[in-house]
Amino acid sequence: MTTWLDLPPDHPFGVQTLAYGVFSGAGDERPRVGVRIGDLVLDAAMCAERAGMESGTAWEGATLNRFLSLGPQAWAAGRSWLTMVLTDEAYRDAVEPHLHALQVVTLHLPFEVADYVDFYASEHHASNVGAIFRPDNPSLPAAWKHLPIGYHGRAGTVVVTGTEIVRPSGQRKAPGDPAPVFGPSGRLDIEAELGFVVGGATHLGMPVPVEAAGEHLFGVVLLNDWSARDIQAWEYVPLGPFLGKSFATSISAWVTPMTALDSARTPLPGQSQPQPLPYLVGDNPVAAQGFDVHLEVRVGETVVSRPEFRDMYWSPEQMLAHLTVNGASLRDGDLFGSGTVSGADPGTLGSLLELTWNGTRPLSLDDGSTRGFLQDGDVVTMTAWAPGRDGSRVGLGEVTGRVVPSVGA
Ligand code: CA
Repeated sequence: MTTWLDLPPDHPFGVQTLAYGVFSGAGDERPRVGVRIGDLVLDAAMCAERAGMESGTAWEGATLNRFLSLGPQAWAAGRSWLTMVLTDEAYRDAVEPHLHALQVVTLHLPFEVADYVDFYASEHHASNVGAIFRPDNPSLPAAWKHLPIGYHGRAGTVVVTGTEIVRPSGQRKAPGDPAPVFGPSGRLDIEAELGFVVGGATHLGMPVPVEAAGEHLFGVVLLNDWSARDIQAWEYVPLGPFLGKSFATSISAWVTPMTALDSARTPLPGQSQPQPLPYLVGDNPVAAQGFDVHLEVRVGETVVSRPEFRDMYWSPEQMLAHLTVNGASLRDGDLFGSGTVSGADPGTLGSLLELTWNGTRPLSLDDGSTRGFLQDGDVVTMTAWAPGRDGSRVGLGEVTGRVVPSVGA
């Protein structure tokens, strides 16, 4: 499948990808839904109107939420229509006026985040955090292999890539300190994750079976779960992360449809010891598969890690089934993070906490400086790609953010 656009066949944003976002500019300051093709963005609703697609009204508005609400049949119809008009030369005249260079537009948060949950689905990350924070106890919590552990986060502080991250202040107390102190976090960290974007609201009291979870998974974003480790370590027992996480979570501007990742499906590392309960397994083999997504994390210009999503223990469908198994309902625009993507190899760890072993083994950057945790002015960027159909690559965009000094510092 080739496009009539002048696009190299190996471009990560070819027709195999077709990620959705929200943009403004190019003669119209209203934020509106766009689809990325190459280094251009297609004004989706305007193009649909011009080219006579009735359901194009789903793309009107300043967020993807309306489109998310329509469910998998509309998502598939939208994608096949986009594929048609970008590959069939007959649509070229209707489409071209609605293509704009990425350089001249502003990208916005692509959807209004309804509820936000963050999971903890990497066995290596969970084991490492346990060994660092709870050295006298088993590194994996007792429930960890029986259910995807997670917590409800703060939807209102999910921000789009490029948003500056103000260093948070809070309480902290090192084990040897006599009393807590208040001030800017000294242990600001990152967590490299994928975030899954949910559509198709459900009713309270009606769990989503694991076999049907895929019908509510619209797409995936790159997600950086900024974490203040000193605030987190003092506050998190017994109710889990709170202010050490809620100050900001960054996501990519592009939402990659799950369909674009069909060629990246891969077996999970293994869930036989112990066997998960039936509601997490179901009878749809796809629901218990992972994704072969390759991430890269840079601090400044230095690549500090290349996490592999195929190392994750739980699948997104299992996470969604677990999230609703008590009857909790879904809303259009729900977002859930996978948890930090970390593998067994030291080069695949998705947080500085692990990469520097809580700051005790600082990283060397290419400019000769070292980092235990982030300094003011540091820019952290995550990118990712996955195998697409016919040997192509699916680009997942990037999520970046610069750390700025705490308020009052
Ligand atoms: Ca996290």
